[in-house]
Amino acid sequence: MLTDIEIARKAKLEKIDNIAEKLNIPEEYYNNYGKHIAKISNHYMKELKDKKDGKLILVTAITPTPAGEGKTTTSIGLSMALNKLEKKSIVALREPSLGPVMGIKGGAAGGGYSQVLPMEDINLHFTGDIHAITTAHNLVSAVLDAHIKYGNKLNIDTTRILWKRAMDMNDRALRNIVIGLGGKANGVTREDGFIITAASEVMAVLCLAESITDLKKKLASIVIARNLKGEPVTIGDLKIEGSLALVLKDAINPNLVQTIENTPALIHGGPFANIAHGTNSMMATKMALKMTDYVVTEAGFGADLGAEKFLDFVSPTFKLHPDTVVLVATIRALKYHGGQKLDTISEENLETLNKGLENLKVHIENLKKFGVPVVVAINKFATDTEKEIQIVKDYAENLGSKASINTSFADGSSGAIELAKEVIESVEKENNYKPLYTLENTLEEKLEILSKEIYRAGTLELTPTAKSKIKFLRKYGYDNLPLIVAKTQSSISDDKKKLGAPNGYKFTVRDFELSAGAGFIVALAGEIMRMPGLGKIPNAVNLDIDKDGIIKGLS
Ligand code: ADP
Ligand code: MG
Repeated sequence: MLTDIEIARKAKLEKIDNIAEKLNIPEEYYNNYGKHIAKISNHYMKELKDKKDGKLILVTAITPTPAGEGKTTTSIGLSMALNKLEKKSIVALREPSLGPVMGIKGGAAGGGYSQVLPMEDINLHFTGDIHAITTAHNLVSAVLDAHIKYGNKLNIDTTRILWKRAMDMNDRALRNIVIGLGGKANGVTREDGFIITAASEVMAVLCLAESITDLKKKLASIVIARNLKGEPVTIGDLKIEGSLALVLKDAINPNLVQTIENTPALIHGGPFANIAHGTNSMMATKMALKMTDYVVTEAGFGADLGAEKFLDFVSPTFKLHPDTVVLVATIRALKYHGGQKLDTISEENLETLNKGLENLKVHIENLKKFGVPVVVAINKFATDTEKEIQIVKDYAENLGSKASINTSFADGSSGAIELAKEVIESVEKENNYKPLYTLENTLEEKLEILSKEIYRAGTLELTPTAKSKIKFLRKYGYDNLPLIVAKTQSSISDDKKKLGAPNGYKFTVRDFELSAGAGFIVALAGEIMRMPGLGKIPNAVNLDIDKDGIIKGLS
């Protein structure tokens, strides 16, 4: 089979104006970024507000292997298949961060015959949203340090500054640094560090903002430090939410592109699914719901992370009603959960597969607790055998969920027709969607519910640090915010080594962090990486552009 970039190069793209026209977007509401990309104005939402919402389909996955199990690829294939069945559909996805592109993952615009295009632009600088977020983020740091140098009127405690600098690169050497060296003219010396842009609260806020006014309000609420009395200091205290919103004035507008089969796609925003909510911008999802009948969107990592956040935080906050959840499973990952090593993952092994099915079971059961219909999608790899596929199908069916084979990676939309038909039926089924917790639950109660119902822990432990942080949150009235749990994506539990279906263990929350702008509290269960590093052989060594401008290595 051809590589992703070779397949992408052969695709015949339509002018983006044609795609906008298919969606009936008036010309005054979009701006072209070249022939194949456009930004839709956030003001277009006002025009759309009285339109009925389409059906919302959330794509999630079982606990993934390090390679990813194909949520993006499945989302794109499903949306293309829905269009093929004459159901108007948009796929709404996150924009890739350069860190993973240069690191291990390569591109994140789908794969094979299920891609969003132009994939090289989407994977690199795209419309500059991530750069704008980086700039806005670092503007806060620059203003903060200038404020401290010129007298520190806000009495910021320079040992308790929470705001680090940001860049869109995997660069572990910048995790902890000292700034302001070289004497008084260079500012006040203090410890600092860098996070990757996708981990910035500005990213989360941009993805949750419903208008420019709302964006400013959320930015102003971001807590960046504590003062000498221990009180929170916000971006609003620095009076720069206006300039930040200005830097983000185009980044707030959803990006319109197309799939390999010329169906519309919105690619906008890319928050993490551990320290943030893990879905593309609400602006994009809400616009998509107004513009088509079926919106397919993806939530990051496994169903215990992104999907839980979508169902417990995103949907209630934005009054969304998920109509169906598609749970992506791969034979490879199931075998991995059954104990098979990654280097032999492509070989048939019914024993490890049968054992690993328990991971699928937990996710199906968990999702059903939200009252939403669940469809299992087996993302087929070329090495999967008929026997293996039949085992997974039978198993899912026994649990009351139909499993459809999805071969859209190899076949495009025609490979996802079975899945699309299943989804069309599923969205009409009885739906008793309800989040697992309500805002009235205390922070401890919310954690109890999640650790028991989703992570399947026996006991929940809060460290002394976590307990004292709750007191701080209570004191300043932040304790009733929704909860975002940051934990490993490699296990249902808080320990990445626990594969399959761990249960009865102790789930430990070591600390809480406040994302007051985004409007949630992050519970830290384990070490969470905000600035990844590159591996021994990063994907950067595979990337190239030749004299004719032909790109290589973006798979
Ligand atoms: P996720 O969104 O779950 O992280 P992706 O859809 O990005 O996963 O897929 C991860 C990687 O696996 C991508 O490089 C993609 O091209 C590749 N991939 C996905 N599905 C298949 C498949 N069926 N066969 C081969 N490669 C696949
Ligand atoms: Mg993805």
